Amino acid sequence: MNDHAETHTIDAAERSDYGFQADVARLLELMTHSVYSERDIFLRELVSNAADAIEKLRFESVANEALAAQAGAPLVTIALDKEARTLSVADNGVGMSREDLVAALGTIASSGTRAFLDELAAKGGDEQGGEKGGTLIGRFGIGFYSAFMVADRIEVATRRAGSADAFLWTSEGKGSFQIAPLAVADAPAVGTKVTLHLNAESEEFLEPYRIEQILREHSGAIAIPIDLVEEKG
Ligand code: ADP
Ligand code: MG
Repeated sequence: MNDHAETHTIDAAERSDYGFQADVARLLELMTHSVYSERDIFLRELVSNAADAIEKLRFESVANEALAAQAGAPLVTIALDKEARTLSVADNGVGMSREDLVAALGTIASSGTRAFLDELAAKGGDEQGGEKGGTLIGRFGIGFYSAFMVADRIEVATRRAGSADAFLWTSEGKGSFQIAPLAVADAPAVGTKVTLHLNAESEEFLEPYRIEQILREHSGAIAIPIDLVEEKG
């Protein structure tokens, strides 16, 4: 990436800051300050989003030949970079527009998010984490935000299928997120790449055997091929 550094230069005027919706902000607070026992479910959530996005593109392609021509063979790629301490999940699915990003990753709390918070409150709220929270996370499938259990910064590079424009969503999970246009050279040709900058407690997720183990345990039902690659720094 370093040799492309100049293409990351983003016109400040085009970068927008957004606040997370209140329920989302509360959930993120729990994610980042708790040591849940089932942190590895983040991978199941990201892989299932990738598979959903691929399925959506396949569906849209039925009635749209231009999209059909763009869509390659369905593939999810998980890349581990020990030097950069990142784990990324990329898909060649439907992608997201700027509006999709704002809504889906920040301002609309999913029904899962709300149900999780309600249940946690009903149970007397083990908000410092521990067994109860972890079990609930596993049960509700709180989705994308679960990645903040293992990452202190997340980037989502994405291009809505059929659009020339690509965007970069970035957040440290602390109340706000940013969206900026992404230079063509840095954007996925098709789909979405979610990059997790793993936190100090999450080194284990840089190990291929660990990722394979989690995939076997939690993503066995995914019908789409999953590639696991190690990036050499
Ligand atoms: P859910 O999958 O239950 O809707 P998530 O929190 O996992 O909840 O994801 C929220 C939304 O973000 C998804 O519904 C989708 O619109 C969008 N999204 C997340 N990941 C991707 C992706 N890889 N490609 C396209 N859209 C995505
Ligand atoms: Mg999901």
